Amino acid sequence: MADLSLFSNEQIAALLAALPDPAFILTRSGRYAAIFGGTDSRYYHDGSSLVGKSVHDVLHPEKAAWFQAQIAIALASRGLHVVEYPLAADDVKGVGGAGPMETIWFEGRVQPLEYQVMDEDAVLWVASNITASKKLEALLRMQSETDALTGLANRRKLICSLTEHFELFARYKTPVSVLIFDIDHFKSINDQYGHLAGDKAISVTAEVCRRELRAADTPARLGGDEFVVLMPHTGSEQALPISERLRQHIADALQALGTLGDGATISGGLSEMVSGDLSYEDVLKRADDALYRAKRDGRNRIIRHEPVS
Ligand code: GH3
Ligand code: MG
Repeated sequence: MADLSLFSNEQIAALLAALPDPAFILTRSGRYAAIFGGTDSRYYHDGSSLVGKSVHDVLHPEKAAWFQAQIAIALASRGLHVVEYPLAADDVKGVGGAGPMETIWFEGRVQPLEYQVMDEDAVLWVASNITASKKLEALLRMQSETDALTGLANRRKLICSLTEHFELFARYKTPVSVLIFDIDHFKSINDQYGHLAGDKAISVTAEVCRRELRAADTPARLGGDEFVVLMPHTGSEQALPISERLRQHIADALQALGTLGDGATISGGLSEMVSGDLSYEDVLKRADDALYRAKRDGRNRIIRHEPVS
């Protein structure tokens, strides 16, 4: 514990004002009793006009209720309560002027006080700007889920989506189809036209997927020349013409490239989740078996694994 007798009242006031992050004294009912620090406008807006007001005066009712609930949680826990939340200058009435334009992500560290303020229980709420690390976190998450060559979902993201949709299927029985497809004779494309032409064929294939499929569908690159399309709310009977159209458009786009001689085609296998499935792996396995048949039967086709009813 610091020996406060070493400091004059002015020095203590200056010290509080110099706190790098804004520290609010908030009462149980949501009144701003005091604000200290957080004066660097690169990171924070000036909140001094809030003193004397309540969160209910300056915030949207839902946000205000959330703040009040967090204060109650901190008081009940009698210890530090840590929260994260976004706030833009427009979200807080009366806070304008200099400060960041964008929405700020805050980490709030909420500590109950051992004495009352304005006849109410109160907390010390320190709000740190964590926008930069939030952005980095989002970027890293996006990169960890994205295939670098095509920008499509990668295997990791696909497996997450398949798992989620399998759980939804198990609960609600809404149909989900899975198409797995692969470029025909891709090894010889690489050998004949070079690895860069091969890469181009892969990225054009991905572009066609993005263009042709619905927003709810997830096209993903499994690796190499192999792709998977997850189609929620779609039985395989309905997914077959969609997959056929995709096959045709990919073949057209690969031919239009003009760098692959006669172009290239794809083969695909299609299946849907069925009641006896134990995991998404079962549907993927059936689609893969159907792809194998498509290759064996002469390529440039989609084969549907018909569900047994
Ligand atoms: P099939 O018709 O049976 O599919 O024959 P295929 O030659 O396409 O055989 P397969 O699908 O097994 O070959 C995939 C090839 O893709 C093997 C590998 O050299 C190549 N490959 C894998 N990743 C990449 C990549 O990122 N870029 C390029 N250009 N080639 C890749
Ligand atoms: Mg192939």
